[in-house]
Amino acid sequence: MKFICDDNLGKLAKWLRTLGYDTLFSREIEDTELVSTALKEERIILSRDQQLKRFKSAEKKLFLLSSNQPLDQLKEVLKKFNLKPEEKNHFTRCLVCNQVLVPVSKKEVENKVPPFVFKTQEKFFYCSKCDKLFWAGTHVKNLKKKISEKGLL
Ligand SMILES: [Zn+2]
Repeated sequence: MKFICDDNLGKLAKWLRTLGYDTLFSREIEDTELVSTALKEERIILSRDQQLKRFKSAEKKLFLLSSNQPLDQLKEVLKKFNLKPEEKNHFTRCLVCNQVLVPVSKKEVENKVPPFVFKTQEKFFYCSKCDKLFWAGTHVKNLKKKISEKGLL
């Protein structure tokens, strides 16, 4: 299942990516472009904007969220589409750009990450689009804690 978030749902997009769902988001996107991308790429449109209902062609692709809170929105999406995020898919996508991350060995990142990180981390990932290395660390722990508190894991 693939998604496209409207320009107000950046945080929701990040959460969906965190769980491994292919999710497009851009800060500046016209409604017409949002809809045409969704139809072309068979994506579900996530939005809080009732105005999008005017696009009859996208009626079946549109899911209007009622919550204001990103994590509650995430809950709405998972429930609506009966999604059960699998642990193996978590943190497999770049949170910044949605690209699938490539695992890299510890050896490969030596001298490319700060020494402390190299010393304390075992798992590293690379985003070819951002040309950036990522590692799990406390950031991932915090995200996981937040989603498990919501009963989403
Ligand atoms: Zn990226």
